[in-house]
Amino acid sequence: MIRIESEAWQAMVEHAKRAFPKECCGVMIGAEADDGKRQVTHAIPCRNAYEGDQKDRFLIDPKDQLAADRKARELGLTVLGFFHSHPNEGSYFSATDLKNSWPWYSNVVLSIRDGEFKEAKSFIANDDQTAADPEELEF
Ligand SMILES: [Zn+2]
Repeated sequence: MIRIESEAWQAMVEHAKRAFPKECCGVMIGAEADDGKRQVTHAIPCRNAYEGDQKDRFLIDPKDQLAADRKARELGLTVLGFFHSHPNEGSYFSATDLKNSWPWYSNVVLSIRDGEFKEAKSFIANDDQTAADPEELEF
């Protein structure tokens, strides 16, 4: 289960709306409790570095990802996962998303329709990246 604090959540939605009709992406930072419950306190909007049509693809700029890693360390927190948007699509986890994901991390997908936030879901890929399980998401 993952809970996204209000300020982080606002940053994610704003980033997704601003990027529309392209996909946005970013990093979620926070802490994981002993019971496995994840709390996102910071969302870091990143540049979509995918070279091609970004309406259904994203690639987190490696420089931005490094900066997010650094920020997490500075704050004594952990990179808990990543977020991206689906412009005019539902918040499902696509085959491409699965292929490009890493095990353990939470992947939040925000559905943006006509520039407005619709819904969001979170997924965690299994160790061999053959499937992803939905994760309970609170925001
Ligand atoms: Zn996707």
